[in-house]
Amino acid sequence: MKKTFVNKEKLEEIITQFPTPFHLYDEKGIRENAREFNEAFSWNKGFKEYFAVKACPNPTILKILKEEGFGVDCSSYTELMMSEAVGFAGEEIMFSSNVTPMEDFVYANKLGAIINFDDISHIDFFKKEMPLPETVSCRFNPGGTFNINNSIMDTPEEAKYGLTKRQMSDAYTSMMKDGVKNFGLHAFLASNTVANEYYPELARVLFKRAVKLKERTGANIKFINLSGGVGIPYLPDQEKADIRKIGRGVQKAFEELLVPAGLGDIAIYTELGRYVLGPYGHLVSKVMHMKEIHKNYVGLDACAVNLMRPAMYGAYHHITVMGKDELPHDHMYDVTGGLCENNDKFAVDRMLPLIEVGDLVVIHDTGAHGFAMGYNYNGKLKSSEILLHEDGTFSMIRRAETPKDYFCTFDFGEYGLE
Ligand SMILES: *Cc1c(COP(=O)(O)O)cnc(C)c1O
Repeated sequence: MKKTFVNKEKLEEIITQFPTPFHLYDEKGIRENAREFNEAFSWNKGFKEYFAVKACPNPTILKILKEEGFGVDCSSYTELMMSEAVGFAGEEIMFSSNVTPMEDFVYANKLGAIINFDDISHIDFFKKEMPLPETVSCRFNPGGTFNINNSIMDTPEEAKYGLTKRQMSDAYTSMMKDGVKNFGLHAFLASNTVANEYYPELARVLFKRAVKLKERTGANIKFINLSGGVGIPYLPDQEKADIRKIGRGVQKAFEELLVPAGLGDIAIYTELGRYVLGPYGHLVSKVMHMKEIHKNYVGLDACAVNLMRPAMYGAYHHITVMGKDELPHDHMYDVTGGLCENNDKFAVDRMLPLIEVGDLVVIHDTGAHGFAMGYNYNGKLKSSEILLHEDGTFSMIRRAETPKDYFCTFDFGEYGLE
């Protein structure tokens, strides 16, 4: 049974100050999970998690994660700006981008971020503007399929990211000639995987590659970045990934592959987004309309603009009707938003308790890739974000958009809409 991290009374208190819809974040859950995560990898001296900013780009959230010792993984100019504003600097910033504009590289370099090249051609591109930094990372794409226990987890050969094996050693060799002293190795081979074997298996692929690269090029490999991809249990019957087990699995691979090769000083980095924040966000919404035609529809004041994953991937997000969780779930509904798009449904054929107009609804697991993926289709405006603090108080950490925000890019020419 999936539980909300907030009760009905508290939510009712919050909505007296902040109208629905909004994303609500659970500071207590975020901090506890962050500490458990750091603890699980504490066997590795240099371990650092670089939170993937794209998963939840909010400065207040980033500041909490900074306090827990995390760095940030950025992929664009504005993510770098936000990270700088929060106080991240130098090697606390990983810049893992692709199809990268020059100004992004220039800015990342100015901040002293670790540049993680997505392509071998990006190295010469970068060098046209500035010398390579002392520490550089490259993203690896092994091609083929990525398997765990003989089942295919994902197909790197279809992925646009990274350098091939051959390109990895060519890149290291040429960058050593250019004076690069320390190297990183990065790969992201499967997304949203709750299997505890994912990181350990990925680690084995990367650790073996590191040993080969060391043999072939003599490069000093400083860190290995396991990137993102550890999943969360969106479904009620799914089990949570066991981060301690995952940490131990990576440690075992480290001791078997890197330590004997004399590479026991390598730091392990990660770039998790979903695992770090996903479960600690709720999309809070109110039932505006009930509609009975060929099917029964619940119309919310939130829509796919606030949470795109169900519309985009058919993703399951659990729904709790506040105060009715104990009632029989004996009504079948499609839970919808108001976009003129028939895929604007948070749930299809979902069994729920009897719903009435005015009910408060929580959509679970929206902390990562939730608000962040929002857009403005149908001229719908993005919601506010509220943080529930550890002591039960709450504050707004992003205001809702207003029509003025929507029109602000027309602040020129004859219409003068602002
Ligand atoms: C998206 C992304 C992540 C985070 O992925 P999650 O699935 O949220 O863990 C990490 N690194 C890179 C390079 C990414 O693109």
